[in-house]
Amino acid sequence: VSALFTFDEFLTHWAEDRPDRVAMREEGRVFTYGEIEDRTARVASALLAAGLKKGDRIAWIGKNSDLYFTLFFGAARAGIVMAPIGWRLSPAEWAFIVNDTRAKIVFTGPGFDGVPQQLAGRLDHGPRIVGADAARAMIDAAARIAFAPSGRDDAVLQLYTSGTTGNPKGAVLTNTNLFGLRKHSADLDMPYTKWEDDEAVLVAMPCAHIGGTGLGIMALAAGLPGVILAEFNPDGVFDAVEQHGVTRFFIVPAALQMLLLHPRCGSVDYSRLKYILYGAAPIPLELLRQCIQMFGAQFIQAYGMTETTGTISMLPPEDHDPEGNKRMRSAGKPLPGVEIRIVGADGAEVPTGEVGEVVTRSSNNMQGYWNLPEATAKTMTGDGWIRTGDAGYMDEDGYLYIHDRVKDMIITGGENVYPAEVESAIYGHPAVQEVAVIGIPDDKWGETVKAVVVPKPGMTVEEDDIIAWTRDRIAAFKAPRSVDMIAALPRNASGKILRKDLRAPYWEGYERMVN
Ligand code: ATP
Ligand code: MG
Repeated sequence: VSALFTFDEFLTHWAEDRPDRVAMREEGRVFTYGEIEDRTARVASALLAAGLKKGDRIAWIGKNSDLYFTLFFGAARAGIVMAPIGWRLSPAEWAFIVNDTRAKIVFTGPGFDGVPQQLAGRLDHGPRIVGADAARAMIDAAARIAFAPSGRDDAVLQLYTSGTTGNPKGAVLTNTNLFGLRKHSADLDMPYTKWEDDEAVLVAMPCAHIGGTGLGIMALAAGLPGVILAEFNPDGVFDAVEQHGVTRFFIVPAALQMLLLHPRCGSVDYSRLKYILYGAAPIPLELLRQCIQMFGAQFIQAYGMTETTGTISMLPPEDHDPEGNKRMRSAGKPLPGVEIRIVGADGAEVPTGEVGEVVTRSSNNMQGYWNLPEATAKTMTGDGWIRTGDAGYMDEDGYLYIHDRVKDMIITGGENVYPAEVESAIYGHPAVQEVAVIGIPDDKWGETVKAVVVPKPGMTVEEDDIIAWTRDRIAAFKAPRSVDMIAALPRNASGKILRKDLRAPYWEGYERMVN
């Protein structure tokens, strides 16, 4: 199946090759590849009949659903671009993204019938808003018509970045972005990129992010079942593993921690589970160690971003040896076909082992940001390279280490401190549930390190204790000078800690130096 590169090609192929095999499962609803081919062709037909054209946008506001994937795959067959919007965002944030897309139709998921009211008065163009029942009826009633399928380099998906460092930006992704590298690596001779015929993939993260939508695409690329969880919850993951034969899933570190804290965690039958993929945010080493001991599965770390259609480097299972393996801190090696370099402020490559900004080039790199030529020019520096905005280094063996966001780096007395390293040290403290580290302004040092700690339920912890604990583990200049205790950390809809929100009150009236 190496000649397949587009949604239309994959769907047509699997419908001929395995019409009766399961393609999608969500709760009681099961669709075969034959059914999905037909339903997606009818989505394309209905959208074209409604007057939409190749290059037009549609949006989705809702949880993960077979309906979402059917609409997305169907639209993509005809080159109509799907923009899924995070359901956890506020109505004002939905409206920001809907307005940005200029979507002709906004589809809403089951349980989201209130969206038209919530968006009322906030939209600056007039999209149709179509509820879940009406969308299903549209698909059932549509007659198949002949249409020109989208080509390899046509846009099919517009994914918004998480908005961790600013407003979300729409990354425009093509068929090639979504399938090129995935196909390529599935053909490679690495056990974790090869699929067995009896596997199934779990879509556990929100479809508005590549770690959710991308898993559905992975299932399609492999011709295997995609098991869909409407939203992440530990029971749903455990059930999918025990009852629906899920062999792989991807989740973020915060979700891994929720699995670990769940009472069922120790008694689940993991015998069919092969790989747990994790990433999207730095993982505390201690959490990773606990997970390796708890779950009967192999671990793979993925590093990437929306703009690179997700994963560009992977830390394979063999580098997850909890016995003092220094590579446990690495984000792994570039995937075959991906170039990764570390550059200095001047854009020139820095020597091996030196910290700089991570830049990357591959067929995964987006076309550009939607309607943001300046941001696109800043991120895509020419010759196909993308600046990730992440600080990191590469070791002699070609392993990539991600320190943190360039924008979150703390410069204290001329020394660079990466919050993720400090957080990882503090996280091991027995009374600490969660921690975020930020730089706050300081007249003498420029910035000093502050830790914001959420104590474990029912426990208290002293500032001095945290500072002493950290000094025992990492260099003194990296240890916090002050510690705040709060009840919960601000996170965005993808579960990422919003350091910019924690920083804001301290920086009123100051200008932060970030490049
Ligand atoms: P925005 O770009 O809007 O500020 P965002 O960067 O959080 O939001 P995403 O594209 O969802 O949006 O996230 C990509 C970022 O997530 C990467 O640039 C990196 O900082 C972080 N990240 C992803 N994978 C890893 C990983 N394995 N380890 C550490 N950080 C990671
Ligand atoms: Mg980003």
